[in-house]
Amino acid sequence: MAMNQIKGHNIYIGGIFSLKNKAALARADISHVLSVLRLSQTEQLETFAPYQHLSIDVDDVEDDNLLEHFPSAIKFIQSGLDGGGGVLVHCAMGKSRSATICIAYLLHRQPGALTPESALALIRESRPLCEPNPGFMQQLELYHKMGCPDDVTDHPMYKRWLYQRDVEESVACGRAPELKSVRFEDEQPLPSQTATGPTLEIRCRKCRTKLATSPFIIPHEEEKQNTAKSSATAECGHVFLHPLTWMRPSLFPTADEAEDIPGATYGAHPDDAPLSGRLTCPNAVCGSNVGKFAWQGLRCSCGGWVVPAIGLTKARVDIAKQVSLAPRANPAIRLPPGMRAPDANSSGRGNL
Ligand SMILES: [Zn+2]
Ligand SMILES: [Zn+2]
Repeated sequence: MAMNQIKGHNIYIGGIFSLKNKAALARADISHVLSVLRLSQTEQLETFAPYQHLSIDVDDVEDDNLLEHFPSAIKFIQSGLDGGGGVLVHCAMGKSRSATICIAYLLHRQPGALTPESALALIRESRPLCEPNPGFMQQLELYHKMGCPDDVTDHPMYKRWLYQRDVEESVACGRAPELKSVRFEDEQPLPSQTATGPTLEIRCRKCRTKLATSPFIIPHEEEKQNTAKSSATAECGHVFLHPLTWMRPSLFPTADEAEDIPGATYGAHPDDAPLSGRLTCPNAVCGSNVGKFAWQGLRCSCGGWVVPAIGLTKARVDIAKQVSLAPRANPAIRLPPGMRAPDANSSGRGNL
């Protein structure tokens, strides 16, 4: 099949055979060729000599990471367009990989105006067979959610996605993830986003040690297809969290510690960290069992699946809403005569 031009852009999509049609390439004034597939060395040398060429080595499989290549691909396409020539983006069939890259380019140009679906629809107007595989569509969704940044690999959402992939890959082989691939969220630089609403604070019910606050809580969806009599209508019995530093001894016990841990399950490799087990309160004096974790996932009592699952058991913790009160702004608080509400200038020295 021939290559097709994307409406309104000097960008063409095609399969590997579109490179054979020299006349069509010349007509389109193609100056840049972007290959999104694994090429052999000889192909590299002969076919692409007349063009500026960039090659991205990926397979058309759902779990290949195409997302990390979006910025370099977009830059390359843009340089071709800026130079006034046409850009050919091709893979083997001109269906999944090349379409994904072109959608990423369109999104990057107009992040507010397009979604991955609408950009795909635009491409299909000239090439109906285009269809990124589901994994690539998810990567496009994530890229769009991130705001189509020029730097993907430094983005916290990208790093969280990588961590999730690592865990899924390990679990598929019956193994716990390695310590180095786990992203401890409280060790990351804080996002600059402004917190809205009251934050939650979760403490150990027994010793009051603070275990988590809102930014580290992972909301999960309740199971939607409840069968009439399933027990899945119960309230959530757990609060699920991102990995946090205090969980390290529970998630990755040393050989000595592991002997003392009841209830841990291991995969096929006895030297690995446990696949599932208990979460122990970080206060050594307390040591209370505050929840459980399962890298392969847990079903919450509400019926929702969470993968990977690190959950505090609600019955073992206290959850409090933290509302920051500005005393003077709250007329409900009455102060005794002679006492002033602390203002911005008071440094709190009275407490010393
Ligand atoms: Zn405790
Ligand atoms: Zn739940």
